[in-house]
Amino acid sequence: MKISKRVSKISESVTLQLNSLAVSMEEEGKKVWNLTAGQLPFRPGNEFTESLRSELVFLNSFQYSPVAGFKKLREKVIDYYNTSREVDVSETHNVLISNGGKHSISNVLASIIDPGDEVILLAPYWVSYPELVKLYEGKPVIISSSIYEEFHPSIDDIKSAINSKTKAIIINSPNNPGGIHYSESWMKEFASLVLEYPELILISDEIYFELSYFDPKPTYFYQFEKSLLERTIVIDGVSKNMALTGLRIGFCIAPNELISAMTRLQGQTASGANSLVQKALLGYNFSLIHDYLEPIKGHLRENARTIQDILRENQLSQCWYQSKSAFYYLIDFSGAPIINKYKKNDDDMTDYSSQICQGLLTQKGVAVVPGEAFGVPNTARLSLVPTKEFFAEAITKIVEFMKEAEG
Ligand code: PLP
Repeated sequence: MKISKRVSKISESVTLQLNSLAVSMEEEGKKVWNLTAGQLPFRPGNEFTESLRSELVFLNSFQYSPVAGFKKLREKVIDYYNTSREVDVSETHNVLISNGGKHSISNVLASIIDPGDEVILLAPYWVSYPELVKLYEGKPVIISSSIYEEFHPSIDDIKSAINSKTKAIIINSPNNPGGIHYSESWMKEFASLVLEYPELILISDEIYFELSYFDPKPTYFYQFEKSLLERTIVIDGVSKNMALTGLRIGFCIAPNELISAMTRLQGQTASGANSLVQKALLGYNFSLIHDYLEPIKGHLRENARTIQDILRENQLSQCWYQSKSAFYYLIDFSGAPIINKYKKNDDDMTDYSSQICQGLLTQKGVAVVPGEAFGVPNTARLSLVPTKEFFAEAITKIVEFMKEAEG
């Protein structure tokens, strides 16, 4: 069967390949430290599961919801957004509830990209952005950054990339996979920059907003230049902050006109999102998210600290940066001895992250996601969520591997 050009262009997730290797190693009885998880391994809060249970008796919990989502839930999302970000978009913005944050992003890109439009992505970026941009016949334009600037791309580099074809820019703070959120000063500079380009659409993926475990908290460009809200689209949802990745609910908060367009699209492609979960969310108090996450944040802080301690003890401080949010960390192989086993010479700029991650898995039994997927060469994403002891063992293995070329 001939697959369309559009879909043939989409790359397969790089995690899948390594995951299947990890699974077959486990089947052979080998111990594997799998740090690839993109979700919290905890049960959702009782208040939510109780709310879900209490909705089970109603007929309309099982029937179609309105395409854009239940009106009361949409209002609740706007209230939550206004309060948590200290803005007021009640008059200008509306909400579309979709089947997860990824679906929300897909709706946005489908509704704004025309063939040939450019979308600026800041590396490290989330794996699906470039693939979705390409799916809708746009061109991803990548701005890189490195551990030296704690994964904050330069504002000048962003400025140089903007041209008449630039349709939008996607900001993801807190960041997957960087585990950082952009500093307030960076956000202010970014706000001043984009003020100069009134046509540019600003997409702010805030799905990890609640998950920051080191102060200061995340801030956003539009909080410093309120007029930017007119062209800002915010992505949020419950996957990450309520541990509901499997229940598939995402929110898009955007100017009214775009919400209407995306609702037409969703009405023909997916219809309204899951009614039962929407109703359970209606009965749930969003201010409990904070309490639910408190112990989880303590756990993330401890594991982030473990990385710091083990890297320091092994004279690899140059590979360390302070992660602050989301639940990931980017291990940087480019400053460690191991890179010399892969690089052909000092000028070799090849990205060996896939080969390095393959080596780490086969030699030490640790599975991580190659930085190639996120636009950061010779790094790998690991998840900070595993239990403390298991995590420390895995980091010790990674560090042994990083030091290997030391003779
Ligand atoms: N945005 C970012 C940065 C993510 O990391 C993810 C999930 O990994 C999503 C959006 C989509 O989340 P979901 O579709 O599970 O709600």
